[in-house]
Amino acid sequence: MTTTGYRVSLARTLMFALLYAAAVYAGRCTAMVADGVSLIWPAAGVAVVWFCAHRDAPTRWLDTVLLAVILGVGNWRTGTPGEVSVVAAFVGLIQVWIFRWALRRWRPNLWGAGGRDPLRSPRDLWALLAVTVLTCVGTNLAGLLGRGLVTGSLPVALSVMSLARHIASILIIGAAGIHLGAWLSRRRDRPPPERPPPERPSPWRLAEIAGIFALSITGHIGAFAYEHGLPLSFALLGLTVLAGTRLRTPWILLHDVVVGTIALQCTLRGRGPFAQVADVGQRAVIVQLFGILVALVGLSLALGRDERTTLLTALAEEKTELDTQKNLLTAVIDSMADGLAVIGADGRVTMRNPAVTDLLGGRRSPDDMLAGSEWYGLYRADGTRHADDELAYLRALAGQEVRGVDMLVRHPGMPDGRVVRVTATPLPHPDGTYSAVVLFHDVTAERRHRDELTNFAGVVAHDLLNPLASVEGWTAAALDALDGVPEHPNLDQAHADLARLTRASARMRGLIDGLLAYTTAREATVAPSPVDLAEVVADIAQARAEAAVAAGKPEPGFTIGALPPVQADPVLVRQLVDNLVGNAIKYTAPGVVPRLAISADTSGGMVTVRIVDNGIGIPEGQHDAIFGNFHRAHSGSAYLGTGLGLAICKRIVERHGGDISAADDPGGGSCFTFTLPAATADHPRLAPVRPGLTPGC
Ligand code: ADP
Repeated sequence: MTTTGYRVSLARTLMFALLYAAAVYAGRCTAMVADGVSLIWPAAGVAVVWFCAHRDAPTRWLDTVLLAVILGVGNWRTGTPGEVSVVAAFVGLIQVWIFRWALRRWRPNLWGAGGRDPLRSPRDLWALLAVTVLTCVGTNLAGLLGRGLVTGSLPVALSVMSLARHIASILIIGAAGIHLGAWLSRRRDRPPPERPPPERPSPWRLAEIAGIFALSITGHIGAFAYEHGLPLSFALLGLTVLAGTRLRTPWILLHDVVVGTIALQCTLRGRGPFAQVADVGQRAVIVQLFGILVALVGLSLALGRDERTTLLTALAEEKTELDTQKNLLTAVIDSMADGLAVIGADGRVTMRNPAVTDLLGGRRSPDDMLAGSEWYGLYRADGTRHADDELAYLRALAGQEVRGVDMLVRHPGMPDGRVVRVTATPLPHPDGTYSAVVLFHDVTAERRHRDELTNFAGVVAHDLLNPLASVEGWTAAALDALDGVPEHPNLDQAHADLARLTRASARMRGLIDGLLAYTTAREATVAPSPVDLAEVVADIAQARAEAAVAAGKPEPGFTIGALPPVQADPVLVRQLVDNLVGNAIKYTAPGVVPRLAISADTSGGMVTVRIVDNGIGIPEGQHDAIFGNFHRAHSGSAYLGTGLGLAICKRIVERHGGDISAADDPGGGSCFTFTLPAATADHPRLAPVRPGLTPGC
């Protein structure tokens, strides 16, 4: 703590002490005119504000001393017996301590309790009332006991009066203090440039405030100042309600103080409805209750209004922010080259961007094309027409994730058609239904390019077969011709050259076969039907084992689990399994007997097949790349191949809506996993396009 900080704290201590002394004096003055009974006790309110403001001040000790001295001396000098004044001084200290403790416990966010907030809502007001009642009840019990101890009598009636005036004082002055303190501390903490310019009320508003004050003051003077003998005080609450519904909290605090003072002053002077109560004590209690009621009604209405205004302002700000974000999002979505549409659970398009119209085109509105059964003109990439229930968005509406399905959109407005890749994501609703977010990406150019390349490869491969057959035929003829040639020094060389030619031709045939198989896998129409996977695998295993024996290689061992039937093209399934089994046998270390384990399980309408081998494994980081065209992970080694086999496998699996992946087998070797639709009764309706693979092998 700097010297300046200490000085400021000291100055504030003195200022509060003076204010407190004035409040004690004012309270004792009312006692003097009302037969020794204080009608009001503003000192209680001033004391709690003082000690709340100085919760952490370095001059707290001085605050405690001064409060006790002022209260004790003030009481003593105005006729209270010395020992009772000492008790009063202690009780005054107990009061501020209880208040500070309870406020901190129940409303730590409020100014004076360690926070910086003013009263913001009726809930804060009720909390303040609870703190005040607790404080005053506690203090009064302590005061009663103290007095009883020093005087030997228990003045219960006096204590009830004291309770009412303390509650009124702490409630009204405490609420005003919290409001003022919060405002000052926020003003102090914010540097001047950041301070918002003070809100200037409009002249109309000022006139309204002045009018309400004038009306209320006139009403209260009318009810209290004149000797008409009419008990009109109840009607005055209407004026408080009017003020509470129209004025903000600071104005209401001022209003409560003003009308409370009028009621008090008039009662003190023996005027107004309360003055007719003969007993001074009862009169005091009634005027205090009137003050408490006015404060509670006015403040609760004003705070309710303030809270509503704050909420409405926050809502308006949030709405503006949301509007800005919405506009930004709309601009982004509208400027996208890809089409984006949201389809509701009822199949209606709830949102779409202009690109949807550009991509789907046609004379029909895209809404019709998307939402109803009018997706006619949508074709699979192989040219066959889509059934409605296979459409991506319908699958998404059924809760399935659909990724990257290529479809050909063709209609009279777009006779050449356009290939659109559709991705549909389901959005779940609480009632269990789904909306679909559908993304359309134009892949026409990409597809055309790829198709041209594929066609070219197919044509070249096909055209090369004839000359290759001639080369093979003539090589065989030359070998036959050499059989009859007598021993000659160049004969062995000729045999060796022709053998090399035969091997090269075989390699070339393998490549051409691969290219043709690849083109077939890409282009041939898929004709799914139930396939007995177990039978296909058994056939292939037997053929491979026989081929190995015939070639003088170790016979591979197969462990085949239960394999459920799949819904797929039988020719393509055979090609797929044969490729994978062939690779598993081929990629084993020399001298190692190949061992394969083939197993499967079914989930979500898809069969997941795993082929595990004991081979040389796939080099690190190449598990995805090996599915690319012509990619060879063991090139340059003793394993011959074209790098097309797995690309063909991938294409076959994808064309059936499945997926394929490779992983290392924990026992050494590799594990290839692929999925195909299960041959169930309701297949292929709504089969997931790419369900996740069962992890691990
Ligand atoms: P290839 O004609 O070279 O066999 P594939 O497309 O069938 O072409 O396979 C691509 C590459 O993947 C192979 O060159 C090989 O490096 C690797 N590979 C394929 N199957 C296996 C396997 N079972 N074990 C280890 N590596 C494999």
